[in-house]
Amino acid sequence: MGYEIELDTATEAVREASRLCRSVREDMVNNASLEKADRSPVTVADFGSQALICRRLMEVFPGDPIVAEEDAGELRQSGNWDMREKIGNYVHQYIPSASSRDVCDWIDAGNGEVSDRYWTLDPIDGTKGFLRNDQYAVALALIEDGKVKVGVLGCPALFMDLSEIDSEIGVLITATRDGGTKFSHLSGKEQEPARVNRDRDPDRWRFVESVESAHGDHELQSSVARTVGIEAPSLRMDSQAKYAAVARGDAVLYLRLHSPKMPDYNEKIWDHAAGSIVVEEAGGRVTDMNGKELDFGSHYLMRENKGVVVSNGIVHDVAIEALK
Ligand code: AMP
Ligand code: MG
Repeated sequence: MGYEIELDTATEAVREASRLCRSVREDMVNNASLEKADRSPVTVADFGSQALICRRLMEVFPGDPIVAEEDAGELRQSGNWDMREKIGNYVHQYIPSASSRDVCDWIDAGNGEVSDRYWTLDPIDGTKGFLRNDQYAVALALIEDGKVKVGVLGCPALFMDLSEIDSEIGVLITATRDGGTKFSHLSGKEQEPARVNRDRDPDRWRFVESVESAHGDHELQSSVARTVGIEAPSLRMDSQAKYAAVARGDAVLYLRLHSPKMPDYNEKIWDHAAGSIVVEEAGGRVTDMNGKELDFGSHYLMRENKGVVVSNGIVHDVAIEALK
């Protein structure tokens, strides 16, 4: 089974939502009066992105549950009409006929549950990166019987080529099970295959980790990276753009080990589903820090897993061994 319709639908949905996020981000830069601590732009982009993506999925696959990060409960309250109107103004640029109620209903279509076949969505992964004008991602995946079958990542702030200073910005990366990983410019149609970095020379290896120190154990991550043979300092990025970095060879390893401050944190499916297939189909490996497969078949919280290790395949066992 090729999943062509699923891939096309997911790709168009993520492209559209990424454009919405980018225009909210641009308006934020142009609006000098906006306070730095004002989180409302990210809220507008988060809800707007989820509304557009759920709407498309519902239209093409009305029977598929969607497990997404946001819900419209608070937006429906009268105190938040102002926010609802702001979201509506962006959504109207794509769907001129959308009413405020439609927007809330589309967002709430994301209240589905994990089942035999479902979609999972992070409408903006890396909200802190979005606010800092750094990396963020729109992440959508289809899961069947606990296995990710289709993954699409929109990375509106990612360079097409990290090594080129004047590289174009905005990357779309897609994968289907056994169909490989491809990347393209966010607004272009021309796709290139993505492959992990299998260079054997550790001098050319990098590893990626979160910008946020609370989303990992940076000390342990550096020590594992050194054991693997990586001497270069880490590349720090917000969001699943880190998975994109491993999939196309910018880094050989992405470590997300439990923060000592939050030993009981459970990773969430929408933070890993799209990223994991994109890396696996590019030739890499994804497990938790004990070497266990990620569990996408039980609950939105990955309660059976601890931390995440993502690699080009070559360095995986050494990293897991170091963690033991
Ligand atoms: P990143 O941009 O990679 O730092 O990850 C952003 C994601 O981290 C968000 O989508 C949250 O779901 C997730 N997150 C929140 N708190 C934690 C935590 N303590 N440990 C790991 N991930 C977290
Ligand atoms: Mg997230």
